[in-house]
Amino acid sequence: MHIGGITKNTLLDYPGRVAATIFTGGCNLRCLFCQNSSLVEGLIPEIKETDVLSFLEKRKGLITGVCISGGEPTLQPDLADFLREIKDMGYDVKLDTNGFEPQVLRNLAAEELVDYIALDIKTSKPGYRALCNTDIDLDKLDESIGLIKEGLFKNYEFRTTVVAEYYDRQVAAEIGEWLAGAGTYYLQNFVDSNTTFVGRGALHGQTREEIEAYAEILRKTISEVSLRGID
Ligand code: SF4
Repeated sequence: MHIGGITKNTLLDYPGRVAATIFTGGCNLRCLFCQNSSLVEGLIPEIKETDVLSFLEKRKGLITGVCISGGEPTLQPDLADFLREIKDMGYDVKLDTNGFEPQVLRNLAAEELVDYIALDIKTSKPGYRALCNTDIDLDKLDESIGLIKEGLFKNYEFRTTVVAEYYDRQVAAEIGEWLAGAGTYYLQNFVDSNTTFVGRGALHGQTREEIEAYAEILRKTISEVSLRGID
């Protein structure tokens, strides 16, 4: 496992859990708004997997969940082995993914190594390649969305970080159609920083009122649509 970071205690990353979050290095996308560009480019010094596992061993009973984020965790060839060790310690596992490795999701689900999955929907299909700055195969993402909607994992959420340049009411309607029948979808706002691929000032968040309007559109086809972390 290439591990580039760890948050030792968080109430924000895993719904209903006090969790630790582990950040894996590398990603198959280059989203313009990514807040972890150094991690994606592999520029962060590696943390030893054995150190992470021994930290988790010591925290048993104090934290109850482990969130695996990135970067893109599904690119790690030994992800299943790593998750097995974490599950053997008794932790529930949440996986954050961009959804472009559906076969990895199938394999993890077959071994019941993931209790909660969060899949990022970056924008609607027409703008996906531009925002992700990568020549991606959207059929793979469709496949992952289908698997999750069919109940491959016990708990799931779809979520979008709203970047004003790539999300408007038409995009909300298109995503609503795309995810129709899904259970849970969160909208969170983009917060600008110096660590994105395009630098500060190039992209913007949206007003709460406008994001509320997106949520209303999405509620026509998705049962639970909520705003997360928006004042
Ligand atoms: S936002 Fe996520 S999927 Fe996009 S480049 Fe960053 S880590 Fe990869």
